[in-house]
Amino acid sequence: MEQMDILWKYQNLDIMVDNCENQRKNSSLRQRLIYLKNYLTDQQTLLLKLEEEIDRKNIVLNRINHEYENCANEIESERHKLEADQVKTLKHLEQMHDDALGIKAKLTKKSHEITTLLAEISVIDKKLANLRTNFSKAKKEYSDVKVKYDEELEVFQRESAKAKSNRDDVGVDIDASLLEKYVKLKDRRSTAVAMIENERCGGCNMMLAAILLQSIRDKNDTAECENCGRLLYLQGKKS
Ligand SMILES: [Zn+2]
Repeated sequence: MEQMDILWKYQNLDIMVDNCENQRKNSSLRQRLIYLKNYLTDQQTLLLKLEEEIDRKNIVLNRINHEYENCANEIESERHKLEADQVKTLKHLEQMHDDALGIKAKLTKKSHEITTLLAEISVIDKKLANLRTNFSKAKKEYSDVKVKYDEELEVFQRESAKAKSNRDDVGVDIDASLLEKYVKLKDRRSTAVAMIENERCGGCNMMLAAILLQSIRDKNDTAECENCGRLLYLQGKKS
């Protein structure tokens, strides 16, 4: 068998190896896993953010609750003074009245702030509950898909190993320098070897010069397409 015949066969097997790899990369299970992984990462970040927000709001709530209690205590102590008959002058009583109005206004303000904060916390709580439900659903789906993908991967890997071994068996009979050329070309082009069809390069469809075609027919040297640089393969050439 001529070198180019073997190389052509080698390329076909090499394409099969690539196909196995592409099948693995494009597997819908694999795509789904990548999607779910990104989703879970995003949701986790959001979850942490919301939890931090709730913590911050709870700290503020505690502070306001404390302020509210202080105001209530102040009013209680004023009332105690009245009951204990400690208020002796009208002026004192008027002063107490003014103070009480001030504290009452503060109490109303604090009460309003507490209501607003509680409502905000409740909204975040609902969001968090929703998020946690979706998160655990996605997590469950991830592990289910992972099991299926692992099974699929095993098949891909088995097929790929078989294709590689077939390819490498053929590769043993190819001259090292030619195989090296092939590998370099393949890095640049999707295929390194092009079949000559109707006097054209099967890779780029360029019409080949008559002199080049003649030389390919006559000689045993490898020839390259002047346009795309692929190694040219003439099928059925008699050696
Ligand atoms: Zn070409």
